[in-house]
This record gives sequence, C-alpha cells and structure tokens, in this order.
Amino acid sequence: MVNDNKNIPELLVPAGNLKILEYAVAYGADAVYMGGKEFNLRSLGDNFSRDELEKAVSYCHKKNVKTYITLNSIIFENEIKKLIEYLNTISNIQFDGFIISDPAVLKLLNNFYKKPNIHISTQVNVTNSMSVNLYKELGAKRINIAREIKFNDLKEIIKKTDIEIEIFVHGALCISYSGRCMLSKYMAGRDANRGECAHSCRWKYYLMEEERPNLFFNIIQDNKGTFIYNSRDLCLLDKLDLLADAGVSAFKIEGRMKTESYIAQTVWAYRKALDYIKNDEFDKDKKAFLMNELNKCSHRNYTSGFMFLNNYKELEDNEGVGYIKNYRFVGLYNGKSEKYGLPLVLVKNQFKTGENIEILEPQKLPKEVRIREIIIIKNNTDFTSGTANPNDTVVLRDVGDINPYAILRIKE
Ligand code: SF4
Repeated sequence: MVNDNKNIPELLVPAGNLKILEYAVAYGADAVYMGGKEFNLRSLGDNFSRDELEKAVSYCHKKNVKTYITLNSIIFENEIKKLIEYLNTISNIQFDGFIISDPAVLKLLNNFYKKPNIHISTQVNVTNSMSVNLYKELGAKRINIAREIKFNDLKEIIKKTDIEIEIFVHGALCISYSGRCMLSKYMAGRDANRGECAHSCRWKYYLMEEERPNLFFNIIQDNKGTFIYNSRDLCLLDKLDLLADAGVSAFKIEGRMKTESYIAQTVWAYRKALDYIKNDEFDKDKKAFLMNELNKCSHRNYTSGFMFLNNYKELEDNEGVGYIKNYRFVGLYNGKSEKYGLPLVLVKNQFKTGENIEILEPQKLPKEVRIREIIIIKNNTDFTSGTANPNDTVVLRDVGDINPYAILRIKE
C-alpha cells in the first residue's frame, strides 16, 4: 500500500555527457548533476559545453527532472576574474541548484541569480549540525554531508536543522577524508581538489626500507600485489529505508565518469528500491533481489562505508585493484529498423548465437532470451552471422520489441 506521508528522498544521479544524462532520466533519476567545462571536480571528463548545459536543463525540465551544476572546485585568487566570466556565460541557464565548495562561488552566484539554490559539496566535508546551520545562514539550501560520519550523528544533525541533507549512497569511496586528499597531487602533480585526481590510491605499492632506496619488497595482499589505499565501493542500498526514515532529503550516486550501462543498471536498482519503500515492500527478499542486480554491474567489493561500519578494516579489504565483472555489457538499443520492424542494437562487446542475453529496460524487470540468430546490418547488405562484434549494428529477432535505452548484458 502506498504511504503518502513517507519520506521518499530524491534520487540524484551523475551525468558525464548528454547521452548519459538521457539514460539517467529514462531509468528514473529525480535530479541529475553535471559539470560545465570549468570549475567542476571532474575536469578530465567529457563535461558539458555552455550549449550542452542549456540543452540538458531544457531536456530535464520537460521530463520533470531537476538539474544541478557542479561548481565545486576550490578557487585561487588569480581565477576570480575567470570565474566571474564563466558565471556570466551560464547565467541565463535555469539550473535548479548549484553544487559549490568555495564560499567565493556562493557569494558570486548571488550576483547572477536571484536566490540561487546552493548545495554544499562533499568537498567541504561538513560533519556536524553547527556547520550545517552556519551554511544555512550563508544561504545554503542543501548540504551533502560528509561520507565519514556515523549514522547516529546523521540522525542528530537532521534533527537539529531544517535544511536539506543529502548523502552519497553509491559509488567509489576515497580512502582519505573527502576533500582533503593530497595523495594525487603529491604522486602525480594532479590536484584532486581541482578535479584532476589521478586515483593514486588505487595504485600498486611496495615496501622500501629507508637505507635501501630502489630495493622494493613485494607485499602481498592477493596474487596481484598490495593496494594499501584502495577502498571498496560504497553501497547503501539495503540501508535506504533506515536513511529515508531518518529524514535524508536526497540519495546521491557517484560517478560522472561512468558509462551508460553503469548508470542504467545502478539507477534502475535504486529507483526500484525507492518504489518498494514507497509501497512498504522493501523487505529482505527485495533487498537481496536488488543487491543481486547491483552485482551485475561492474564494481569493486561493496561496503556500507564509514556510516555503518564499526571496524573500518573492511573498507580496504579489497580484492586487488580490479573491478568485479560478473556480466558483460554487450549492447544497447539504437533506434528501429524499418525493414525488420524491430529494434537495432549497437554492439558494445562480442557475443555469439547460443548465448543467453539479459535485457534491462527502464522501469521493467530484467528478462532473459537465448540468441539463435544475429542479423548484421551493413548498409544495404544484411547478413546473418554466428558472432556480433563491437560497433556492429544488429537485429536480434529473439529479443523482440525492446524500449529505447534498453541495455543488453550476458553473464560471464
Ligand atoms: S587519490 Fe584516491 S583518496 Fe585521494 S582524492 Fe583521488 S580517489 Fe580520493
């Protein structure tokens, strides 16, 4: 039964480019966040040009989805002029929120927007209610609370403020305090706090005695080596009901560099979880079902992170640096073939006849079919083949009529 009084937090999803943004929206995001070409913390990603930002906002607003722009880089003195110019450039785009960390951005935004909705970034590392309320006085509407706090503290903070509290529920974790990591800057000259993180925490490390430079001892965590700073991925899916009850306003998924298949699968699972919560159906079986779905997505071992762990050892108890890939992403919907009256599939990874393909579509349960025929579409000469290779466009009669944004995967 639907409980209309229940707090159902907003599902906030990353978008690295316009294409991925469409997947985020199709799979059930309530809001998306994205970066422009400057002053955001994913300076190495695709990011959105000014025109793309405008298109993204217009697209989302037509679908009733909110859009937040990330302007959460720290600002140096010699960048203030450039920042003003950039804000001027984007000033007539109607963003629903601005994710910031440097107070200079907060101050300047008021010159360009009437009552901008300010969201304080995880970079600021807000860990207590006094800080939350200070940011409220400065004009913030929402705080992304530090990933490093405990659940009991989160509940206390929410009781002591009336502004929105957002938390990360899924994605990569920093082994250091968010917003305070200098490792990448030290190791690679790339400043994580300026959007240039080289992910040095994922690198392989050796042991060296100080009197014997260049003599490196292997330290073995697993058969691939030792990755002392390499954290697991955060996943709070099975805690969403607790967090919603506690009064969290928004659940945020990490990953502005992620692919369409990652976004589709992750958002699908979290949307479903929120729907179950709304209908009072989020029981043990549903949690297990959705965790199984999340496990199909490429990921590192999951952890419930600092908020729910008593012993942080689990955070680093990882199996090497690599991702766990239980499923191969093999293709996605790519329009319709008039000739066959069936969807076209753009192949992303090789598959063959005889394999079972699982299809995930927005708001539907996954279904599985065996592939008996692959029709390769090549200009005017279609032909059948036992194998589909990356970048082929194919028709799969066995798959039938799938919806736009469908993705296809195969169990490894
Ligand atoms: S090096 Fe690792 S811990 Fe540091 S900011 Fe980058 S991802 Fe986070």
